[in-house]
Amino acid sequence: MISVTEAARHVIAHFPAIGSESCPLVDAHGRVLREDITADRDHPPYNRVTMDGIAVSLERGGVARGRFVIEAVQKAGEPQKSLKDPGGCLEVMTGAALPVGTDSVIRVEDLDIADGAATLRDGTEVSIGQYVHRQASDLRQGAVIVKSGIRLLAPQIAVAASEGMKTLLVARRPSVAIVSTGDELVDVGETPLPHQIRRSNPYAIRAALSQRQLHDIQIHHVNDDLDGLRVLLGEVLQRVEVLVITGGVSMGKFDFVPEVLRELGVAQVFHKVRQRPGKPLWFGRGPSGQAVFGLPGNPVSAVVCAYRYLIPALDIAMGLPSAQESAVLAETVHFRSPLTYFLPVRLKWSGSGQLEAVPAPTNGSGDLGALTHSDGFVELDAERDDFSAGSVAPVYRWSG
Ligand code: AMP
Ligand code: MG
Repeated sequence: MISVTEAARHVIAHFPAIGSESCPLVDAHGRVLREDITADRDHPPYNRVTMDGIAVSLERGGVARGRFVIEAVQKAGEPQKSLKDPGGCLEVMTGAALPVGTDSVIRVEDLDIADGAATLRDGTEVSIGQYVHRQASDLRQGAVIVKSGIRLLAPQIAVAASEGMKTLLVARRPSVAIVSTGDELVDVGETPLPHQIRRSNPYAIRAALSQRQLHDIQIHHVNDDLDGLRVLLGEVLQRVEVLVITGGVSMGKFDFVPEVLRELGVAQVFHKVRQRPGKPLWFGRGPSGQAVFGLPGNPVSAVVCAYRYLIPALDIAMGLPSAQESAVLAETVHFRSPLTYFLPVRLKWSGSGQLEAVPAPTNGSGDLGALTHSDGFVELDAERDDFSAGSVAPVYRWSG
């Protein structure tokens, strides 16, 4: 049986490559950028006035008299004007281009304006260059502002807009199907008979994937029946790049999933991982490179495996750097087993700014209710049995 680390490495290595596509700026929020965004002009593109007031030449005209005759008004959005008399001024507004022949702005708050002139209030200090955002002082034209391989959030969208990018190259979204298996499972709208339960795994996994902007996800169900599995999985494999099956991968007499996948040409990469929950996890590579997950059916196992293996591999395939968060255990945990332990936790920030993980254990891997009181889970190393309060562990959040 392989370790969690090995299993995760295999999943990443065998995940299909995800190409790029063009996306309108207005739809790009949350997508993974696949090109650099460069400055198409200097930033700012002109000497920009940053306060409402007057533009003067402190260099040439000085402030000796403290009184500046107003020659003109320079609004934001108007072509640049010029100062004629070095001792005079132009009224300027925030965002305007600094008039030719001026070098500084004096704020309206520091002035008395009357009779066509602005007079400096007593005690106001001025310095050359004040309230001017110099051309190219943030960035030069051609500089890389946003590098490829980042999730596009509001700041990156703002930059793309300001550089005139109506469309952006982003990672494609792989096609995904989720197939639940099990004779005992009925759908959410149905009333289960006494020996049946409603299926939840496809909905949980689809929710996890929709945090990654994957919305077009097919959901199917099939009973524990060899022929039914052959037909459905064979058909679904034609259509998707990522296939997530839940249930049917354990040691039960009707756990046919690994057998059927092999028949369909899906090469097993591993089966069973030294972990709890989720030991029966199966993973393989389909005939056209599809990533095929056989997640254990237990709802806690299925969701933990999706967050531990599927989501990180998807992020990496989309082009994001792997970013592992850690949290500090708020309580001592003992787990006497040679398995990696995925322990549900509540997360909170301590007074000293540390992310603390408070154990929120479930009553076994079917206890979905308990999972709703957690924010994610920590990964506790198989090699150790005792994890003292204060020790640091990788953490995976339900919020992604
Ligand atoms: P299996 O991995 O098929 O042996 O299933 C393990 C346990 O998880 C069984 O108790 C199943 O009834 C349950 N289970 C499997 N799939 C689901 C599902 N989609 N939703 C809820 N429970 C499930
Ligand atoms: Mg089953």
